[in-house]
Amino acid sequence: MNEELTLLSPPHLYPEGYPRHFTIKTITAELRLETIGAENLDQFIVDEIFPKCVIPTDSQTCDYKSLLLIDFHWICRALHIVSWGATHFVNAIACTGGENNFGCKDSDEMGRVFGDHRVSLSNIGFRQPPANCEKILEIKAADTFIDWKWDLSIRFPRVGDMLHARKDPTFRAIAVKKAKGEGYIDPWDDLIVQFAYAITHCNKKAVEDRRELYTGLAAMNDLDFDGLLTAYNKTFGGYGIEMSGTVPCPKCGAEARFYAPVEERFLRPSLREKRLRREELIKAKKSKQPLTDSDVNTNRLADAGEESEAVAV
Ligand SMILES: [Zn+2]
Repeated sequence: MNEELTLLSPPHLYPEGYPRHFTIKTITAELRLETIGAENLDQFIVDEIFPKCVIPTDSQTCDYKSLLLIDFHWICRALHIVSWGATHFVNAIACTGGENNFGCKDSDEMGRVFGDHRVSLSNIGFRQPPANCEKILEIKAADTFIDWKWDLSIRFPRVGDMLHARKDPTFRAIAVKKAKGEGYIDPWDDLIVQFAYAITHCNKKAVEDRRELYTGLAAMNDLDFDGLLTAYNKTFGGYGIEMSGTVPCPKCGAEARFYAPVEERFLRPSLREKRLRREELIKAKKSKQPLTDSDVNTNRLADAGEESEAVAV
């Protein structure tokens, strides 16, 4: 049950010779069982799962930590589809039926319909960075900022950045402080941490100390930070998989949105997802009809998220 996959990002965003085409293999029982005990699942995915299940076909080796985050999400979605099918379960959807497209009479005041909703990862849209997209965003301080004095060079974030930020004791401490005793907060959820990694140069000088850069960015005036966000989103925002898709509302039939972020659950499927997939595959095998919902390179939404409201990374 292997599938061929091409990276979402155009080649010029990677170093020369970096692989573009991969064979996606199903996750073995052994690997799946090991994910249960993996404390840092993303690290485990990059160190253990990718080398065994995401095999470059146009290169001998692949440095998986250098994958752009958008390609990392792209591959995780493919791994789920290849290993366990596209079926996914979510417990809430946002209905667009009713007055003002804000939920039908069976939804709550936020337009949400709770329940056990079966959705398809094939209905998750994505936006591919265009072939001519900028590799580095250069921000001139004089044109963008009121107080901030440094020109900035910014690139697409990579998996390695996320893994590194999570391990960095300073960023962990900041996350714990922000959690205010409410358990673990992912340091990577902090927008300023993300910028501390995406920015490669200040005034043409390579960033060496990300903590120092974090402190500087955190003290930026809010309007300047807005300027940074706007410039970033204009160039890099909104690319990658959307992490949400559509499904008919079971109450009224209108279109409803579901949210399916690529996080732990993506590679920790439920027993039910697996059982359904197994039954489908056995049925297909007996009837000798191939399943058609597992093409990992396409989605069913024509031009998903044309002008999607971008988040930073
Ligand atoms: Zn509805």
